[in-house]
Amino acid sequence: MPLERTLSIIKPDAVAKNVIGQIYARFEAAGLKIVAARMVHLSRGDAEAFYAVHKERAFFKDLVGFMSSGPVMIQVLQGPGAIAKNRELMGATDPKQASKGSIRADFADSIDANAVHGSDGAETAAAEIAFFFPGVNVYDR
Ligand code: ADP
Ligand code: MG
Repeated sequence: MPLERTLSIIKPDAVAKNVIGQIYARFEAAGLKIVAARMVHLSRGDAEAFYAVHKERAFFKDLVGFMSSGPVMIQVLQGPGAIAKNRELMGATDPKQASKGSIRADFADSIDANAVHGSDGAETAAAEIAFFFPGVNVYDR
């Protein structure tokens, strides 16, 4: 499996539940390394720009409101097949559909407040990492 990097966000609901450490432990147990991280309270404008691909969707306004409702923890994960591995750890978008033992099954309450974001492919991973970590060290480790 190729070494990859992916962007992960622990959303405001999971930060409020105080489970950043439990989610980080899952990344580490799966062989993903945290190679950059920062906590941010996104503005509405930040959230709109980050989720611009969804701007025509009915849920866009709620998504932007939710993502800017409190601090989020943003990290770059690195490891073999990191993009798909993170999506597998996350579980399905709707926590009711998420596999047993996945982050969303265990920590998410609804499709809106669903605990985590993860890049869905190589191109989005590169763009999302550049969006949140421009000119910031992302370490090789
Ligand atoms: P994922 O986060 O699993 O990649 P999407 O990229 O499709 O999912 O959607 C981005 C985010 O928008 C989701 O994580 C979720 O918070 C929200 N969302 C997606 N679909 C819906 C929906 N039908 N109703 C409400 N919110 C949604
Ligand atoms: Mg997505």
